[in-house]
Amino acid sequence: MQESLRELYINELKDLYSAETQMVKTLPKMAKAASSNELRQAFEEHVRQTSEQVSRLEQIFEQLDEKPTGKKCLGMEGLVKEGAEVMKEDYEDSVKDAAIIGAAQRVEHYEIAAYGTLRTFAEILGEDEHVPLLEQTLNEEKEADQKLTRIAEEVNASAEEGETTTSARVETSRMRTRRAA
Ligand code: FE
Ligand code: ZN
Ligand code: FE
Repeated sequence: MQESLRELYINELKDLYSAETQMVKTLPKMAKAASSNELRQAFEEHVRQTSEQVSRLEQIFEQLDEKPTGKKCLGMEGLVKEGAEVMKEDYEDSVKDAAIIGAAQRVEHYEIAAYGTLRTFAEILGEDEHVPLLEQTLNEEKEADQKLTRIAEEVNASAEEGETTTSARVETSRMRTRRAA
């Protein structure tokens, strides 16, 4: 019984390793495609975090005396393809940013689900050293998702207005003042 959950745990770790290494390659492309400085910086920061997340998984594999390779995460492959699709569209800048954020948040949610599952497996299997490593990444993914939500508030307003980020923000606050009056 214990043995088969351990196998599942290792397979899912390999899947996640594949997912993370796919993102190391994809996030710089998303950064490049972003028009908003804030969005580009968020992606650049998350590339650095993602490399650390890969190292954390490698640490776990070392402790398990297993190889991280041999599996391709099809879920992430699909999300990456969808992201590439929206980046190719001929959207206006802030609309494209809104689309990229949508694609990136799908990725973060996918990772949050995976790390949550694996942390629970690590707890059940008594892999006490893995739990904080998985949890640290889980928290980073949640923070990345929240940051994207914050950036989306501005970007989506601009996308809707068809204006630059700053003027859209001024417009939004003007509308709020008008409503309050
Ligand atoms: Fe990640
Ligand atoms: Zn997967
Ligand atoms: Fe992530």
